[in-house]
Amino acid sequence: MTIQKSNSQSLFGNAKQFIPGGVNSPVRAFKAVGGDPLFIKSAKGAVLTDEDGNDFIELINSWGPMILGHAHEGIEAAVIEAIKGSVSFGAPTAREVEIAELICEMVPSIEKVRMVNSGTEAAMSVARLARGYTGRDKIVKMEGHYHGHADSFLIAAGSGLATNGVPNSPGVTEGTAKDTLLVPYNNLEAVEQLVAAHPKQIAAILLEPVPGNMGCVLPKPGYLEGLRALCDREGIVLVFDEVMTGFRLAPGGAQEVFGVTPDITALGKIIGGGMPVGAYGGKKEIMDFVSPQGPVYQAGTLSGNPVAMAAGLAMLQHLKQHPEVYEYLQSITYRMVSGIKQILEDLQLPYTMNHIGSMYSLFFTDQQVVDFDTAQTTDTERFGQYFRGMLEEGVYLAPSQYESLFVSSALTEAQADQVIEANRRVLTAMHG
Ligand SMILES: *Cc1c(COP(=O)(O)O)cnc(C)c1O
Repeated sequence: MTIQKSNSQSLFGNAKQFIPGGVNSPVRAFKAVGGDPLFIKSAKGAVLTDEDGNDFIELINSWGPMILGHAHEGIEAAVIEAIKGSVSFGAPTAREVEIAELICEMVPSIEKVRMVNSGTEAAMSVARLARGYTGRDKIVKMEGHYHGHADSFLIAAGSGLATNGVPNSPGVTEGTAKDTLLVPYNNLEAVEQLVAAHPKQIAAILLEPVPGNMGCVLPKPGYLEGLRALCDREGIVLVFDEVMTGFRLAPGGAQEVFGVTPDITALGKIIGGGMPVGAYGGKKEIMDFVSPQGPVYQAGTLSGNPVAMAAGLAMLQHLKQHPEVYEYLQSITYRMVSGIKQILEDLQLPYTMNHIGSMYSLFFTDQQVVDFDTAQTTDTERFGQYFRGMLEEGVYLAPSQYESLFVSSALTEAQADQVIEANRRVLTAMHG
C-alpha cells in the first residue's frame, strides 16, 4: 500500500513555521526513522486515522496511556460528565480523594500520594523530596533510563563508574550535573561501588524497574532485590519510576510483578487515562515531608484538575474491576510476539526480542539487550527501514528504536495477526 500524505505534509510545513521542529515533543518528528510525521485526526480502539484518511493499527497508544484503546466509552463518559461542572477550580475536590485512595489500594507501597501534571513533574518532585528527606544532595541514575526532562535527569553516560555526570543538553549546568551519578543498569556491583565511593552523600537511587526508554529491557533476577537491600543498608531512598510500567504490567505495576517494594514511586501516563497527569507517592514518613505537611515545597495550579481526575479515575476503576484486561493483554501480546519470533526464525535473522506483559521491543542486533550499551548495538538504519515498511503496511510503531511498544486491550486477534503478516512482508523484503 502507498499511503497518502499530502494533508500531513502541508500541516507539517505550517507547523514548522510556528512550532520548533513542527512538534510539541521531539520524537514525534520522525527524525530517528526518516520521513515526515503523520498528523492524527482521530482514533478509535486500536486504529489511528490521520489527516489524509489513512488508517493504522497502532502499537504505541500515546506512549502508553491508552491501555484500553482509544475513545473508550467509560473514560469518554466520565470526562464529559466532569466538564459540565467546570473544568477547573484550584480547590480540593471529592474526585482527588477518591483517586488517591484508589492509587493507595492498587499500589500497596503507596501510603500517601500527591497528584501532578506530568511524569516529568513527578520524577523531578521525587528527586527534591528524597534530597529534602535525607539531607543529601546526590542522586543515582541508570544509563539509558528516562525520567522526563528536568535538568537533573538530562545527564549523559559518564566514562567511568565514579564519574560525575556531564549534561547532555545545553542549558543544564555543570552544577546540576555533578549531583547526578550514573551507573549501568542491571549491574549490582557497579552501583555498590558507586555508593561506596560516595558515603552518606546519596539521597536516592532512581530507576525504571523495567526500562522502556532504551527499548524494553528486563531486570536480571536478583537485581531489584539487590538494590532494595543496598538502599536499606545505606539509608538511600529507592525510587521506582513506574510512569510507563505503573498500571500496565499489573494493577500494582512492576513492583507487584517482581515483588520488590520501593520507598517512593513516580507515576504518569495510564494514571491520567490520556489526560496530562502524573503522581508520586510512597511511605507516609517520607511523603509527610511534602508541603504543606512538611518543608519540601511542591505545588501546581492545575494539579488534581477535575477533568483529568475524572479520566484517571475512570481508567483506574476499570483496570481494578477488570483483571481480565491484564490476562487479555498478556495473551494478545504473546500471540504477536511469538508470531514475529517465528518469522525471525524462518528468515534466520539474529534479532533480539525483549518482551514482558504488554510491552515489547524488537532490536536489530544479535546481542542480548540488557543495558544501554547492549541496546546501542542495534542497527538504527535497519530499524528506520523496518518502521517505514510497517507504516506502509498500515502498522504504526513508535518512531524510534529506543522505545517500547505498548499494546492496548482494544487490539483484536485479527488485528494482531495482521501485524504479524505485516512483519513477515516487511522483514522478508528487507532481507529477501
Ligand atoms: C514518559 C516518561 C516520563 C515523563 O513523563 P511525561 O509525562 O512525558 O513528562 C518519565 N519517566 C518515564 C519512565 C517515562 O516513560
